[in-house]
Amino acid sequence: MESAEQKTLWTMTANAKPDLTAAFPAHADVVVIGAGFTGLTAARELALSGKSVVVLEASRIGAGASGMNAGFVVPNFAKADPAAVYQKLSRDKAEALLRLVGESADTVFSTIRQDGISCDAEQVGWLQPAYGAATAAMLQKRAADWQALGRPVRFLSREEIQQQTSLTIYSGGLLDESGGTIHPLNYAYGLAATILRHGGVIRENAPVESIHRSGTAWTVAYAGGEIVGDRVLLCTNAFTTGAASRMGRSTVPLRVYQVATKPLSPQAVARIAPDRRPVGDTRSNLFTYRLDRDNRLISGGMAIIPFGAFARVGKAVVDRLADELKLETHPGVEIVWTGVAAMTPDFLPRIHTFGDGFFGGIGCNGRGIAMTAGLGRVLARAALGEPVERLPVPHQKARPLPFHALTPMVASAALAQARFNDWRTR
Ligand SMILES: Cc1cc2nc3c(=O)[nH]c(=O)nc-3n(C[C@H](O)[C@H](O)[C@H](O)COP(=O)(O)OP(=O)(O)OC[C@H]3O[C@@H](n4cnc5c(N)ncnc54)[C@H](O)[C@@H]3O)c2cc1C
Repeated sequence: MESAEQKTLWTMTANAKPDLTAAFPAHADVVVIGAGFTGLTAARELALSGKSVVVLEASRIGAGASGMNAGFVVPNFAKADPAAVYQKLSRDKAEALLRLVGESADTVFSTIRQDGISCDAEQVGWLQPAYGAATAAMLQKRAADWQALGRPVRFLSREEIQQQTSLTIYSGGLLDESGGTIHPLNYAYGLAATILRHGGVIRENAPVESIHRSGTAWTVAYAGGEIVGDRVLLCTNAFTTGAASRMGRSTVPLRVYQVATKPLSPQAVARIAPDRRPVGDTRSNLFTYRLDRDNRLISGGMAIIPFGAFARVGKAVVDRLADELKLETHPGVEIVWTGVAAMTPDFLPRIHTFGDGFFGGIGCNGRGIAMTAGLGRVLARAALGEPVERLPVPHQKARPLPFHALTPMVASAALAQARFNDWRTR
């Protein structure tokens, strides 16, 4: 768990946090555990539908991945194509999940508009440049698959990608016009403000330790008290302490470092991102960049060895940006921060039932800004009594991964392999 408040680009540029001092009830229709995007989205839906909702958060709103991410709004799967989803799920289930995920960026931006959330939202499209001819062919097929589902996705030529990025190394790429960027912490604050406006209550510094059935309801015990809820939603992502343990151990935690540079010149911005589109390429050692409102470049990386990683990854990421984008002046590191993403073995999201009226949802696999807009709403529908089999996210038993504590080492080995693969391809 990220304990002490970590300074990030987002905390440096945050709006005022909503006032959380509302009176705390002894009972709620639904108790939501975790104030990241999943929990806040679910709670917002429930509050809008007239339910009484309490959100219990172990530390602060956005203390998990939701406050630590890079703010890319990407409506697809990190490591799955529509074709792969059809292979893994029945046709009906696959179509329902693809529809949910395909529409998820639109859902984020329309929520922002509807709630008047001030979070630097830019729905300018998301670019995925293809490294190598074989990958370009794969993305061409992927673009056609999303188009067949009615999504505004198309394949751009090598020249178009070069015009969008200045980079000549790519063989074309995919553009999803519904993607874009946001300020993630301000988005979380905005969702929280809507919950509060509709009578919901959010309590920070309230780690949930246990959840017990009492009669037809659930008693949720947190540090400092307890509350009874008719329904409970576990939205604790990769975390594994207290009540989060039953779900967090079913995913592989991936520690990711985010880096923001000092602001770029308008000339550099016009050359590398003329339409301000965020970029994430297809290399194993992913190359990504986006701009914030002050034209800082934001990118990220991982560390094979965690010791000294802040300084090392910060420098390596900004050196890579300067080198690949041929920046005339090295922009320098403004700030480095880190968070943990949750990866599921099949790279798909899932919902779990832990008891009568007690559900959990996880598995956004690094695409969580858009995907939680779907997952949170699906959890709200479960809490409102819709049968889980009818919901558009796969329903599975939560199975702890064997040797969960060792999975970060597997991730480090995979990263070393990815870097080797990219070096060999070069
Ligand atoms: C560094 C990084 C970069 C990323 N970049 C992107 C990106 O650019 N685009 C994108 O789409 N996705 C990105 N992701 C993924 C995305 O941020 C996540 O998928 C998403 O935020 C998950 O939201 P969540 O609400 O499920 O989980 P979280 O935001 O992790 O929230 C879980 C919450 O539960 C709380 N909690 C845990 N245990 C307890 C307990 N026992 N009691 C009470 N509360 C508890 C935690 O404190 C936390 O606030 C990134 C992730 C990371 C880590």
